[in-house]
Amino acid sequence: MDRGLFIGSAFIAGRSGKRIQCIDPATGEPFDSVPAGNAADVDAAVSAARKAFDSGWKRTSGAERAKVLREISKGINANRDGLAALETRDNGKPLAESYIDVDTIAQIYEMYAGLAEGLDAKGEEAVDLPGEAMKSTVAYRPIGVVGMITPWNFPLEQFTWKVAPAIAAGCCAVVKPSEFTSLSSLELARIIADAGLPAGVLNVVTGTGPEAGEALVRHPGIDKISFTGSTATGKHIMRIAAEDLKRVSLELGGKNPVIVFDDVDIDPAVEWVAFGAFVNQGQVCTATSRLLIHDTIADRFLKRLTEVAEAIRIGSGNAEGVKMGPLVSQAQYDKVMSYIEAGRKAGATLLTGGARPAGFDKGYFVAPTIFSDVADDMTIWTDEIFGPVLSVMRFKDEAEAIRRANDTPYGLAATVLSKDEARAERVADALDAGITWQNCNNMVVIQAPWGGVKKSGMGRELGRWGLESFLEPKQKTRWLPGGGLGWYEVPAAAGG
Ligand code: NDP
Repeated sequence: MDRGLFIGSAFIAGRSGKRIQCIDPATGEPFDSVPAGNAADVDAAVSAARKAFDSGWKRTSGAERAKVLREISKGINANRDGLAALETRDNGKPLAESYIDVDTIAQIYEMYAGLAEGLDAKGEEAVDLPGEAMKSTVAYRPIGVVGMITPWNFPLEQFTWKVAPAIAAGCCAVVKPSEFTSLSSLELARIIADAGLPAGVLNVVTGTGPEAGEALVRHPGIDKISFTGSTATGKHIMRIAAEDLKRVSLELGGKNPVIVFDDVDIDPAVEWVAFGAFVNQGQVCTATSRLLIHDTIADRFLKRLTEVAEAIRIGSGNAEGVKMGPLVSQAQYDKVMSYIEAGRKAGATLLTGGARPAGFDKGYFVAPTIFSDVADDMTIWTDEIFGPVLSVMRFKDEAEAIRRANDTPYGLAATVLSKDEARAERVADALDAGITWQNCNNMVVIQAPWGGVKKSGMGRELGRWGLESFLEPKQKTRWLPGGGLGWYEVPAAAGG
């Protein structure tokens, strides 16, 4: 299919004439292509967005925007099978997980419909002032035209986590999806246009990060950049955005710990640990890829964990019952394999995995991999690998577990498993992370704030926090007594 850039609610060819191939990660074969957008395409998209914003979208009521958001949700449900199949083909993830993503995004558009209506109901917020002379209120205004740069691990979700609240807030958007997984963003843009979103409110420019992505970040017509991806690219974007003080939200990487105490029931705890490390092939910003296991249960726990990892059904995302598909790309496969090699060379003990699973001689498959005897300075312990690689350390007491868990520049998510609720609560509070899970792992609560501390980013997505990130508070102060302030002596006016 000859897909185009989505600008002003029309699919158009990219100006460069160049295209990027879409590769099926299960086979390594190309099956489609998207335009390689350039700076001129970005400029056209930003102009379309600005025109839509100024010509009326910014003045729409929350109720009007809610109506469109609900139609989008219905459109997603009506296109459920097609969206899920496309996501699995392009990204590689198991089809059942693509269905979860599609159902979740339909709920997110619905949730933001309610939050958009809430803006109308809330109106202007009164500020509590001492004295009677002034009255101040706060009106919440859309930030403007937002550039959004999304990664390849959850293409539909990442697009929606940004686009749905932006629409709810009255902003316009130009989205640059990852070059590895652009197809579902284009298909979702079509569904959104069919749902009645006015032309120009949403635009999608496919292309590479350094070309289309960077042109978006540099564009003077952009008021805010909302980015999800690696910490290195996030820093680069923030530096460029500082040139003209664009607002930025950054959802970056993590090297998230899961702490398992000695009072857990082994089998369910093993399942939560495996889920946190291997779901979506470990390509999750909140993947709990550092296991801290209490010394007294470590041998039993790791034996069961290895059995569970080896029983995970691997295959093409379309195959029945598969729980782990291929990684997204050759580049990601090479990156993950190089970390595995580094772990081996550094002297960690490979409990399982570490290679292509047997029977898979093409595609980007990596078997679930577990390393024990990992040391603090090994890259498999310090770096975000973004693949199915779990590194394990043992601990002796609570204080040591917390210290080791927090000993990372990242602070996105952290998990604690313990039957002692008071301890789970205490440890969760002591963990430096934007998101914590107790006795579960990697649950996405769309109503709650999502984002990190330390080098995992700034700002929050989802829930009302996601909406607020696209709004600017505007102070409106009135002088009630009438007349002047009486600060200066005002001489009598000259006659005449
Ligand atoms: P990147 O940070 O490079 O990519 C994320 C997005 O940024 C993509 O759309 C990418 O475009 C774009 N981008 C890349 N360079 C620029 C630039 N100079 N200016 C503007 N936009 C740019 O991540 P990768 O895809 O390369 O993945 C590398 C690592 O990042 C992973 O191994 C993982 O550790 C981490 N990561 C973290 C994610 C998270 O959710 N926190 C998500 C994805 C990756 P394009 O893909 O077209 O180059």
